[in-house]
Amino acid sequence: MNVSIVDIEIGLNRQRAGFDLQDIAESAAVFLEDAPALEIIRWAAATFGDRLCLTSSMSDALLIDLVSRVKPGIDVLFIDTGYHFAETIGTRDAVRQVYDVNVIDVKPSRTVAEQERDLGPRLFGRNPDLCCYLRKVEPLNRALEPYLAWVSGIRRDEAVTRSDVRVVEWDTKRQMVKINPIARWTQDDVDNYMADNGVLINPLHYDDYPSIGCAPCTRQVAPGEDPRSGRWAGMGKTECGLHL
Ligand code: SF4
Repeated sequence: MNVSIVDIEIGLNRQRAGFDLQDIAESAAVFLEDAPALEIIRWAAATFGDRLCLTSSMSDALLIDLVSRVKPGIDVLFIDTGYHFAETIGTRDAVRQVYDVNVIDVKPSRTVAEQERDLGPRLFGRNPDLCCYLRKVEPLNRALEPYLAWVSGIRRDEAVTRSDVRVVEWDTKRQMVKINPIARWTQDDVDNYMADNGVLINPLHYDDYPSIGCAPCTRQVAPGEDPRSGRWAGMGKTECGLHL
């Protein structure tokens, strides 16, 4: 299967597309299930052209390294929540220097100060779901509008909530295709690729932060603990909503 959507119609609205993106996603999920990550990315680049982007939390540049080998100059969406660690902002700045990608800062509609003025201080401690919606989910949904497909770095072994992700999926909520080229990778696969290729990494990883989100909602993790247990610890929350 080698459908080039951009060749068929440029500038189309994905909701009114004259062909079925969902069918494309579901077929690709089957025939690419066992394919290497780079092959999955090549398929996505050939299929969606410039209407493909990727998202990065700047926890590391693994996905950026992989995708930029296939599609130099690709748009990388970074959700700048206003609550990031300085190390995460530094990693974003370093990515801009090192990789051939176009990093786009995606901003929430309110600054942190405006959110505190309108909704009170420390919303993340009182209603983290609303805070994540306002500072991550809604801004990303808005930023994804021009694209037909997005590449994400989620993996099956990261959490039970991610154990059944496909390498290509239909993103029902956003009515677009989602590509997860490293869905099948283990932590060892990740560590080996990073070491072999000198991939940029957020320095917080060396300070016992194996999973990095906003500073108020991320804590260090002790050896042997679930790597994601430092996210929203004690809040009964495991996902920000971007991948649900
Ligand atoms: Fe707010 Fe925490 Fe979600 Fe960041 S991770 S958007 S601070 S609730």
